[in-house]
Amino acid sequence: MDKFCKICFKRINDNSLYNLIKKENMLCEDCFNKLHAKFIRFKIGNIKGLSIYEYTDFIKELIYKFKGCYDYELKDVFLYRYLTFLKLKYHNFYIVYIPSYYIDDERRGFNHVRAIFETLKLKELSILRKNSAHKQSDHSAIGRRQIKDVISIDETVQLKDKKILLVDDIVTTGSTLLTSIELLKSKGAKTIEILVIAKTKNKRKEEY
Ligand SMILES: [Zn+2]
Repeated sequence: MDKFCKICFKRINDNSLYNLIKKENMLCEDCFNKLHAKFIRFKIGNIKGLSIYEYTDFIKELIYKFKGCYDYELKDVFLYRYLTFLKLKYHNFYIVYIPSYYIDDERRGFNHVRAIFETLKLKELSILRKNSAHKQSDHSAIGRRQIKDVISIDETVQLKDKKILLVDDIVTTGSTLLTSIELLKSKGAKTIEILVIAKTKNKRKEEY
């Protein structure tokens, strides 16, 4: 059966290298190449992070199409080529999604971060909640302070000895991640790592 690219809708060329080894292809080679998979390591505070793709206009627009235009079909395109690798790397971690404002999730009909990362089929903990529509791009000092009030953690949760994989779509300032890390540590999380789709380049103090 003919397969069509989930991004550009062109017919996928069945002679491509990926097609020869894998059956469930979703992207044409053009779109896949435009995604610029890079696997870049970074740190936020002393927490190790990994971003899968280079931050480009292409990935920015793709995330917007998925998150802002509710194109749910795109949920699988971000991770499908790396599922085996990522499942092995994080097999004993509990996944925690960076939350969106719940009203936005209701409007969208899905949580976009969860939709992307639940394809990893890791054990999950839905313990973070975002209580207002604070935007990560409002990254003034006041923004930092405010974000501490908008993200909260399930008070009853106990994370002692648990390994946590904190996941998000695009990281800009890292302030949401930092706040979430503090909350997870306050509940006894032993090891925390971060996995994101892409991370913007910036030279803010909390990032190295
Ligand atoms: Zn395509």
